[in-house]
Amino acid sequence: MNFAELSTYFERLEKTTSRNTITEILAELFKKSTPDAIGKICYLLQGRVVPLFEPIEFGVADKMMMRAIALGLSIEVKTVNDVFKKLGDIGSAAEFLKKAGKKSHLAQQTFLDVGNTIKNEKLPITDVFDHFVKIAKSTGPGSQDEKIKLLAELIRVAEPLSVRYLVRIPLGKMRLGFSDMTILDALSWMLKGDKSYKKKIEAAYNVRPDLGYIAQTVKARGMDGLRHVTPKVGTPIMMARANRLTSAVEIFEKIGKCAVEYKYDGLRLQVHYVKSEKRKAKSEKIKMFSRNLEDVTPMFPDIAEAVKLQTEADEVIFEGEVVAYNPKTHVFVPFQETMQRKRKYDIAAKALEIPVKLFVFELLYVDGISYLTKTYEERKKKLKLIIKTFKDSRFPPKADRRGNDTTGSTIVYAQEKVTQNETDVEDMFAESVSLHFEGIIAKKLDGVYEAGIRGWNWIKFKKAMSKKLNDTLDVLVMGYTLGEGKRTAFGVGQFLTGVYDQKQDKFMTVTKIGTGLTDEQFREFIKRVHKLKSKEKPATYEVDTLLTPDVWLMPGLVVEVSSDEITRSAVHTAGRVMEKSKSGKAFSVKTPGFALRFPRLEKFRDDKRPEDATTVTEIDSLFKKQGQ
Ligand code: AMP
Repeated sequence: MNFAELSTYFERLEKTTSRNTITEILAELFKKSTPDAIGKICYLLQGRVVPLFEPIEFGVADKMMMRAIALGLSIEVKTVNDVFKKLGDIGSAAEFLKKAGKKSHLAQQTFLDVGNTIKNEKLPITDVFDHFVKIAKSTGPGSQDEKIKLLAELIRVAEPLSVRYLVRIPLGKMRLGFSDMTILDALSWMLKGDKSYKKKIEAAYNVRPDLGYIAQTVKARGMDGLRHVTPKVGTPIMMARANRLTSAVEIFEKIGKCAVEYKYDGLRLQVHYVKSEKRKAKSEKIKMFSRNLEDVTPMFPDIAEAVKLQTEADEVIFEGEVVAYNPKTHVFVPFQETMQRKRKYDIAAKALEIPVKLFVFELLYVDGISYLTKTYEERKKKLKLIIKTFKDSRFPPKADRRGNDTTGSTIVYAQEKVTQNETDVEDMFAESVSLHFEGIIAKKLDGVYEAGIRGWNWIKFKKAMSKKLNDTLDVLVMGYTLGEGKRTAFGVGQFLTGVYDQKQDKFMTVTKIGTGLTDEQFREFIKRVHKLKSKEKPATYEVDTLLTPDVWLMPGLVVEVSSDEITRSAVHTAGRVMEKSKSGKAFSVKTPGFALRFPRLEKFRDDKRPEDATTVTEIDSLFKKQGQ
């Protein structure tokens, strides 16, 4: 398959919003691809050349792209800009200009002028991919011109439809409106003509969330190939998540005697470490990932140092929660302050100003052995052999009333007690909250590590936020209305948010939020949504027409909200069931959806992916439990 043919698939995908049709088109595309190309196609579908967790970006902005188009088509940048303004989409503008140029033979004439390393207008996918890799990897002085030249070469030889996508991919504007889950469905369809392999494929993907690798493996070796998918140091594992309950009694009913740990209020970190071989300092590798698989290694140079000092294994993957503390008082500070480390500059200064501790609680892999399928008890036992902690008299264990004095090290164990006693749980809960943490997490003693799953092996019990609804929710920001009155200054009135419907891989609305934001939060909001704006409603959104916002946003920003109560609503789509009227033409509401009463923004959750938002199933169970 060449890039021109691939572009016809992109176009078909762009035109449809039905998830089933998207899955079928993808399956057809995957059937036609070779094992060699399928992985690359998967990355290109996401507008990338590497898996999502690798921080390699194209580094191409609209202005640069306009110069590349102008160079590739031998026209003025101003012409490109004018057409772009008219059409509102730079990919379509380039396609239009390419067509116009073809007619006038303008482009062909200029081939001679600039020289070209690519000749064929039926570009092979691998050539485009390799070219894109070069573009993404080109950095430093002169890289802008280099990137423009490489892009221009592609634009010059490709046919018009291909040009549309050659321009959109590096700009991150593919916006095909489906998530990795749909691609996994399509892989099952490719093999079997239905979704029955999806669960198994997804389980492998949760261990190695690299779509290209998974696609290539099933294409080359079928479902059997997936049996060999094991953790790989350097590739993040999808993190296990917790279900929620609201009392010790409920927890014991569900999982019996269990390990109760503090629920720290910081940032989840998955640490990947390879010790250097003798005299080969370069072979040492360390990477740290957040929950949304973002590589956050540069944020925590002090933890990297501690990992080298405190880890006794050659190759290891483990997890913990990183929490910042005030160096004078040794009191732990809230999540938002820990996140200040995110500022890319001045990390070293920040490390002194906001020191951190990493509370470790999970072992996933060590020295060639996957611990994912081992029990909690086995994992914890081994973890304690691998991570060495030490005492430090400078650290009064003010943060730890149990006298579990390992607080001198940067890496310490999460506070833990194995129990089946209600008072123990309540004591731990109260201690945790008094230390500014969030409550507790109970872990099933014989439970495995459920990669990427919100299962019952981990149960969270969080502190009460309000009377009826005892928990906060994580919701996806789907769009916003423009401001009125005082808010015009910010350009945002209210924003529409939704929860995740796993069964349908869709986002369903649950509330609009507008009141109670500080000016600072409004400004933050604008900054964060800037890159997510979309001309059309993303295909994964289900929104009642009454709630159509002025500006749609692609899935990207998750926020934590508190609210007084979950109520029923006919306009929100979360949990709503529609039925056909007797005439069979119109639809009416059979069961209303869920909505939030008095929603308030608590914080921006940069560490969560859209699919990590609260699910419809969770809202349903919270609704049922409410007020009990
Ligand atoms: P939630 O974000 O409310 O779903 O709660 C799960 C999160 O709690 C995890 O992703 C961790 O970031 C955090 N957490 C804090 N302490 C622990 C712990 N001891 N074990 C597991 N997760 C923890």
